[in-house]
Amino acid sequence: STPPPYRGRFAPSPTGPLHFGSLVAALGSWLHARARGGEWLVRIEDVDRTREVHGAAELQLEALRRFGLEWDGEVIRQSDRAAAYQAALDDLLARGLAFACHCSRTDLEPTGGIHHACVATAAREQAAIRLRVPNERVIAFEDAVHGHIAQPLGREVGDFVIKRADGCWAYQLAVVVDDAAQGITDVVRGADLLDSTPRQLFLQQQLGLPTPRYTHLPLVMDDEGRKLSKSLAALPLDTDDPLPALMAAWGALGQDMATVAGSTGVNDWLSRALLQFDESRLPRDPQTSPHRTT
Ligand code: GLU
Repeated sequence: STPPPYRGRFAPSPTGPLHFGSLVAALGSWLHARARGGEWLVRIEDVDRTREVHGAAELQLEALRRFGLEWDGEVIRQSDRAAAYQAALDDLLARGLAFACHCSRTDLEPTGGIHHACVATAAREQAAIRLRVPNERVIAFEDAVHGHIAQPLGREVGDFVIKRADGCWAYQLAVVVDDAAQGITDVVRGADLLDSTPRQLFLQQQLGLPTPRYTHLPLVMDDEGRKLSKSLAALPLDTDDPLPALMAAWGALGQDMATVAGSTGVNDWLSRALLQFDESRLPRDPQTSPHRTT
């Protein structure tokens, strides 16, 4: 029998130029896909208009080109996908799996920010929409690098926001709808998202969508681009001279530096890397700080 087709993706948020941490995710997911003869898509995750930096998406795409990371098909932008998110939301609402919520941060302080039941004392002008998570619900999956992961989703996360009170679609909903719509079989991304994966699996289950395989790569920096490990901090992304950053990203992926030393240019480097990429060397992240909350 033929193996199932592989389709991976890189899904940057346009909050600034491509930084070293996103290069590691881009290179890791590209190698993972291309080493298997798979497709590799790029999706711009611009649902959070409050964090978007004007022009950043174009800079990120240009940087990917300079690093030789070519994608398949058209780049999709989440800002064009409202109808698909609305359809998923309507479906969840109609089946009573999601609900409008007026609770404020302050309302939820007694439960550590976790929502188990509405406790709002006053109706706010705009409600958020939350996905209902039964208290005893536990979500488990096998990560290709981190192994068996189980999260007591009901107790640790509770009912979570899928549409924000300010009208923005939540990352969790958008990513699940898009991964399914694009037929993604393999999600390869930074370990900062390890902590979001159980929410995404639960959403897939509630929406009747397939669950891709997950591989979480070592994390080298946080969302704000701070907390770089010292040796990497000295290495800004120079798109005019891509090889040093590619080498450093290769190192961050735990790969053997000797196998790509002395490359003559980006394409030569990438074709060698493709031949030498060894998934079993991907390190478990020693410095994860999962903290995404929406
Ligand atoms: N847009 C997310 C980020 O840049 C990544 C989402 C994903 O790969 O699932 O952090």
